[in-house]
Amino acid sequence: MTEEQSILVIDDEKINLKIISDMLNDDVVVMLAKSGEQGIRKAIEYQPDLILLDVVMPEMDGFETMARLRHDARTSAIPVIFITALNDSSHEEKALLMGASDYIQKPLHTNIVQARVRLHLQLAKQRKMLEKLANIDPLTSLANRRKYQDVLEQEWQRAMAHQACLSLLVIDIDNFKQYNDCYGHATGDKVLQQVATVLANQVVDKGLVARYGGEEFVVLLPDHSQEESIEVARRCMQGVEALNLAYSHEDFSGKVTVSVGGATKSPSQKCRSEDFFNAADDMLGLAKKSGKNKILWNLPSNLHAVVE
Ligand code: GH3
Ligand code: MG
Ligand code: MG
Repeated sequence: MTEEQSILVIDDEKINLKIISDMLNDDVVVMLAKSGEQGIRKAIEYQPDLILLDVVMPEMDGFETMARLRHDARTSAIPVIFITALNDSSHEEKALLMGASDYIQKPLHTNIVQARVRLHLQLAKQRKMLEKLANIDPLTSLANRRKYQDVLEQEWQRAMAHQACLSLLVIDIDNFKQYNDCYGHATGDKVLQQVATVLANQVVDKGLVARYGGEEFVVLLPDHSQEESIEVARRCMQGVEALNLAYSHEDFSGKVTVSVGGATKSPSQKCRSEDFFNAADDMLGLAKKSGKNKILWNLPSNLHAVVE
């Protein structure tokens, strides 16, 4: 058990809360709730790594509490161990079918409770680590495309609910094939890392910088006006140029630069998140066609602005 991990114990009897917390609190942070209702609130707020849930409770019993925890996206992935004095295999079966990770019968034996809790905390830790790895681009340590897609969906829904706007920059390194041809793939990889750092440094508070694929990046900016987002784009472009990475190739000679396509939208039922990406990506295509190392911004009615 590691110190940062936390457990939420939900039980209507004070004495049980005390017994369980005495068994566990040497190794983990133990939070207590004396009803299903309070337990659900604490689970949402504190996001424990594991929940120990009593089956028999007045008002909302353990099964109903479990159903509600599973139903809410904020708590649905938190593992739950049922604890009960009921000696009935149908209850155990019901709990496991509902997605419980384990089922411990009373009377509680300290060693058994500690061993089972330790096992489930270990599994929770591994699951979190895998989730993190699945969302990170290993070369640049930025979020990867999969993470970007998830965050875009969340932010799109959030902006729609709040009638807020969202901006997206699609950024692609110019003539990167030639850079690789000049210096080799390994040096090219270092450039990708440097560009990633420049981009990440421009997004200080809200916002997500991700590697979309190859030498293409995206910057998602919730609650940024068009002007603010163009300013971020400008800083990204200037930051990459300031790296001063010169190269000379038969087709091209100069510094590493990027082109940026951008769009700012207020999500609605009519405008989908894919259209939003396409709007910015089309601008990137135009920026490439019209000389590279520039920012083009999507405007309503198929117009676009060239940012100097
Ligand atoms: P443009 O200005 O039109 O974007 O031209 P470009 O050469 O940058 O684009 P193109 O799509 O023709 O080539 C992309 C290049 O990016 C070729 C590919 O080897 C390189 N690239 C993609 N991913 C990586 C990577 O992970 N590491 C390195 N070193 N190079 C990569
Ligand atoms: Mg490119
Ligand atoms: Mg490309």
